[in-house]
Amino acid sequence: MQDVHMYIQVGVLAIVAMIGISFTFALPKPRHQLKAKSASYARWFLVASWLVVFCQAIAHIGYPQIGLPGVYAAAILGAYMQLMSVLKRYGTEVSQSKKFAAALHIVGVMVVTSVLVATKAPAWIAHSLALSSVAFPVWQALRCVKQHFSTESIGGHLLFGVLSLVIALVLFGVPAYLTIAPADSHYHLAATSAFMLVIMLIFMLAFAVNILQSLLLKLRSQVHTDPLTGAKNRHFFYEIAPKLSAHAKRKHETLSLVACDIDYFKSINDEHGHVIGDIALKRFCEIIQSQLRQEDTLIRMGGEEFLILSPQYDGDKAAQMAERLRKTISESVISARGVDISLTASFGVMQMPPGADLFTTVKSADQALFDAKANGRNKVIMV
Ligand code: GH3
Ligand code: MG
Ligand code: MG
Repeated sequence: MQDVHMYIQVGVLAIVAMIGISFTFALPKPRHQLKAKSASYARWFLVASWLVVFCQAIAHIGYPQIGLPGVYAAAILGAYMQLMSVLKRYGTEVSQSKKFAAALHIVGVMVVTSVLVATKAPAWIAHSLALSSVAFPVWQALRCVKQHFSTESIGGHLLFGVLSLVIALVLFGVPAYLTIAPADSHYHLAATSAFMLVIMLIFMLAFAVNILQSLLLKLRSQVHTDPLTGAKNRHFFYEIAPKLSAHAKRKHETLSLVACDIDYFKSINDEHGHVIGDIALKRFCEIIQSQLRQEDTLIRMGGEEFLILSPQYDGDKAAQMAERLRKTISESVISARGVDISLTASFGVMQMPPGADLFTTVKSADQALFDAKANGRNKVIMV
């Protein structure tokens, strides 16, 4: 009867591991080469977790000399796989020597615990060695997640919570269980199965939430980005810009706007075609971006019309910046598929008056841009 229970436990865990593995295949694959490897380590983590139960079952049917060192080695392997999965998740490179050290750690613990079991040494020695060995990679993973807290939000915190829970269980839960539970392999097998089931389920959950959340962040940034030029788009302007101006108002900070439009751009398309026009537009943005400060934001409002948000710049500083941009653009030659193109652009500059509305300020900057066009183009006009 007990053997039936054993088969059920090993079988159920195998099914859970397989569901988890298929789940990792179903998740969207990150384009980043290192990050894409995270899922394959998560799969090995699930396999190793199942191996823990499988080896415990071998110990249970009368082969503790093989089963117990197997349990320890599989548990440490699982912890390392989970560490690799987390490291890759954040795009971290792992050196060959570190991988070798981990393999040595696993084999070392397996050899030492084999000797301890064979010589019938007190069980707590092998347990302590194995548990501290499991805790080490989990702790490393915890440190890695903590380092990335600023860039990831809920997903990272969830993973951090899960890993802390695993460490607490390994360092306190398991020793507490081993102290109070009877030395009966039926109990050990059932407890191991339950423990591994919980670990597998919560790790899978945290892994999935983490991936889905960063996907969501990526999508959100894509919604705000113009695919051709990489500049921000109108959606960004309508969603983020009012918040920026409210922030500037609250903090009594200066904020200036520079409206910009390429001169006679239609003639570039007419003369060389849209593909070359697109390349010129892209290159134009690269030149502008290279001249901006980190806090400035280039927004493509449509076609070949742009807006630059310049926090902490008053009108004069923003006009100087616009003049620099105008000069650089007019002196640059853009090469597109063997065609050399020279562009000029016109600029309208406006500092947001205290307490003013951002949209009214944009209108004034646009009016200044209109004046720059009317005054012969390739000019900067400040309101
Ligand atoms: P000006 O601003 O100096 O008055 O003249 P313009 O010729 O630049 O002005 P207009 O606004 O009439 O034309 C803008 C042109 O920009 C129209 C369109 O052919 C071109 N354009 C807008 N968006 C794109 C784009 O994404 N790719 C390409 N290739 N051309 C674009
Ligand atoms: Mg134009
Ligand atoms: Mg235009």
